[in-house]
Amino acid sequence: MRRRISLLTFILILCSFTPAQVKTVAEYTDQVQALSNRADLKTAGDYIERNHAEILREWIAITEINAPSGHEQERAKYIEGLLRGYHLDDVHFDSAGNLVAVRKGTGGGPVIVFDAHMDTVFQPGLQIKATVRDGKVYAPGIGDDTRNVEALLATIRALNEAKLKTRGDLVFVFTVEEETTFKGVGNYVKENKGKIDHYVALDGGYEGFTYAGIGINWYRHHFIGPGGHTRSRTPPYSATLPLARAIARIYELKVPASPSSNLNIGMLGGSEVVNAKASDAWFTVDLRSTSNDVIADLEQKIAAILDEEAKRAGVTVKTDVISSSPAAVLPGNRESNLVKIAEAVHRAMGFDPPIGNAGSNNSSAALLQGITSISTGAGPCNDSHALTENCEIEPLYRGIKKILLLEVALAGLTQ
Ligand SMILES: [Zn+2]
Repeated sequence: MRRRISLLTFILILCSFTPAQVKTVAEYTDQVQALSNRADLKTAGDYIERNHAEILREWIAITEINAPSGHEQERAKYIEGLLRGYHLDDVHFDSAGNLVAVRKGTGGGPVIVFDAHMDTVFQPGLQIKATVRDGKVYAPGIGDDTRNVEALLATIRALNEAKLKTRGDLVFVFTVEEETTFKGVGNYVKENKGKIDHYVALDGGYEGFTYAGIGINWYRHHFIGPGGHTRSRTPPYSATLPLARAIARIYELKVPASPSSNLNIGMLGGSEVVNAKASDAWFTVDLRSTSNDVIADLEQKIAAILDEEAKRAGVTVKTDVISSSPAAVLPGNRESNLVKIAEAVHRAMGFDPPIGNAGSNNSSAALLQGITSISTGAGPCNDSHALTENCEIEPLYRGIKKILLLEVALAGLTQ
């Protein structure tokens, strides 16, 4: 009896450690290749090819409605109007102002979210007029992130045209306030946690994708001293002296290349006038890493330097955290079906995808909620966040087909 139980237990343990479906990227690539050769996928692809002019026209029309973070309503209304014509199962605004559209699956499949953010970094009132020349389209916001908004709209139309039915639900989320606080995505993933199997953020990107988010921490460090006139007794010195010493020492700290990390001191200030010692000398630090341990370690070393230099100059230190978002690294995400299928889709589309772990977009918010997530995009663009922003036009159509294939592969193939 005892022996039989232990044998049974052994078999149960063995089963629980043998996942039902562990496929390699090569196996997924074959499967995705076969999927892309299906007649209905070809019909969807042909729809994209036949509608280049219409896609470009709509892409420009959306871009020309400026949508600064927090002021997305006009653009959102326009996109909502388009979605209403697509016979979707649900189109609504959530409590944060995100526009959510659901294309239900036939059942038994995973829930896959694709997002693109509606907001831009440009000031309210900016008149945007796109121009096309030499195979490129120029307009502030054309790439970040309107190319991906348009890609999602075009894929929905293509899915409908080809009467493609997925097993899982496809949820399209057009988010607000990505460029500032991640409020839109933060709210969405918090409200829908437990209902989402995979989250794909479309932002930037074309040939590759990222599976983790880089942590970004911004600080303003102040040295506070007595100040005084240039001719007042010295020491005490101006609070700029410990500042200069501290900056020189911080730049001597070892910032690792792996895990990917960066440190920058970009802004500084002191007295308002030439003939005064600074009573408040400050500088900013932008500290980034894909490892929260690296961030914590550098934070500690910087704090020690500030303390030592303050003591040496007889002043005090005050640190303000301007903003802080941790590295978003989900254990197992790199080995997840999502990442493998994403790689397979890129390979099937003829890309040799760079796979990165230093994204900084809506994907991080999903990862921080424990949802497997990647970020990618539909086309190559330049000069994001600048008035000279521009995108190549032709590659977008291939990028849209890549997103379409990713939608079908994830909603139809996983599990
Ligand atoms: Zn963006």
